[in-house]
Amino acid sequence: SHRIMLGPLVAAIDQGTSSTRFLVFNSKTSELLSHHQVEIKQSFPKEGWVEEDPKEILQSVYECMERTCEKLTQLNIDISNIKAIGVTNQRETTIVWDKETGEPLYNAIVWLDLRTQSTVEHLINKTPGRNKNHLKHKTGLPISTYFSAVKLRWLMDNVDEVREAVVSHRAMFGTVDSWLIWCLTGGKSGGVHCTDVTNASRTMLFNIHTMDWDPELCKYFGIPMEVLPRVRSSSEIYGLMKSGALSGIPISGCLGDQSAALVGQMCFQDGQAKNTYGTGCFLLRNTGSKPVMSDHGLLTTVAYKLGRDKPACYALEGSVAIAGAVVRWLQDNLGIIGSSEELEKLAASVGTSYGCYFVPAFSGLYAPYWEPSARGIICGLTQFTNKSHLAFAALEAVCFQTREIMDAMNQDSGIPLTQLQVDGGMTSNRLLMQLQADILCIPVVKPSMPETTALGAAMAAGAAEGVSVWSLNPEDLSEVTSEKFEPQINTEESEFRYARWKKAVQKSMNWET
Ligand code: ADP
Repeated sequence: SHRIMLGPLVAAIDQGTSSTRFLVFNSKTSELLSHHQVEIKQSFPKEGWVEEDPKEILQSVYECMERTCEKLTQLNIDISNIKAIGVTNQRETTIVWDKETGEPLYNAIVWLDLRTQSTVEHLINKTPGRNKNHLKHKTGLPISTYFSAVKLRWLMDNVDEVREAVVSHRAMFGTVDSWLIWCLTGGKSGGVHCTDVTNASRTMLFNIHTMDWDPELCKYFGIPMEVLPRVRSSSEIYGLMKSGALSGIPISGCLGDQSAALVGQMCFQDGQAKNTYGTGCFLLRNTGSKPVMSDHGLLTTVAYKLGRDKPACYALEGSVAIAGAVVRWLQDNLGIIGSSEELEKLAASVGTSYGCYFVPAFSGLYAPYWEPSARGIICGLTQFTNKSHLAFAALEAVCFQTREIMDAMNQDSGIPLTQLQVDGGMTSNRLLMQLQADILCIPVVKPSMPETTALGAAMAAGAAEGVSVWSLNPEDLSEVTSEKFEPQINTEESEFRYARWKKAVQKSMNWET
């Protein structure tokens, strides 16, 4: 059989909240050659709790790798062309394992999980002036259930196995990137325990100015520093794949999913922004070499550091907890749709929410409110309202939440966004994209290759020193083809609906009182 001759290939593991993917790109053209995807089970053992199984996550990675290699072979593409592997992952999700047995000591506590709400309230009450931004000058983050430190603290306080492993110096902590890299590079026989600056910046233990773990923060949360992974840049060789068809290939890129999407969307210039619509929704705007502190409820986060000797780049981020998750809720909890694809048809059949507003504050509200006690509400119902209107209101909720983030970002930076680059699973919904342009009153631009998160991780891996098959020089990067959604309704109509939405948000925060 004849094999297709190609330039060097670079692969990416994309471990998201709802699924795992493995994807292989041509480093010369950024073309996606093959991929495989496996769903991840989420469990909700108690109200507000969200867990996943670290071993299932790892197995899904191996399965995606194997199946993708089979598909490449069927395409007559030689897998020995794969020169590097990048990792991108759901951020903040917290895992503790035993370095001697290699076994996880509890399920992964997923970023959305609310079990630490009372701990967070307690911590905020102890700060001068009950200030949730007490640690922001170091971390860029408000004290919130969202970030890893409080999840790790909960594990140490509530899981005997974790406590014992910490006491006997056998515990390792990691976000999903660390867990995967440690396992893939050999696990208990010599696995590399590391993370990158972008993932570290989401733990609340990392100082975004010194770019290292902060002893004072660790003390504040009572975390022994020896459990923490070593912090590396987002683009360097961390270790080699230990087993399987890709054994010996370097793992040389690592970025939290939102940082990876920023890179994959080529937002390398100060002021460029992208919004990713997955389980949640995350708008990041590159602010260059300066960490900009928000006055409007946004996070300051490390965008990327593409090489050991390269400068760090920062971003302002607006995080929305529930976006695609509301679609899954309509499907699993209400049963009004059979699949996420059905949502668009249902909503399009009415083309309006008919005055119904749906605030899906299932996990409290993230940016710009950071209100853990908010809960979901549906309001404006009449005798006429039906499931199609509710479907429409769910899509609009995603758009309104993005509008709130964009407004906050425009206020913080003083320079309004003129267009928004988008990606993520939900962007296959064309109605959503059009609604988003209508509600933002600016064009929404969607690249034709939707896997920008994985592309970003592959770019970081391919550009690493010692791999050097992918150039990140702007003039070498291939042209991206995209589709543009222009606003189609007038500004008054848009503002009227947005004002109603804001009223509904106030009710979601105050419905108990
Ligand atoms: P993650 O990285 O968080 O796992 P993805 O980017 O894979 O998320 O997107 C999956 C999410 O997008 C799911 O929550 C799913 O409900 C939602 N989704 C997928 N397709 C559609 C669609 N056509 N319309 C609306 N939502 C969708």
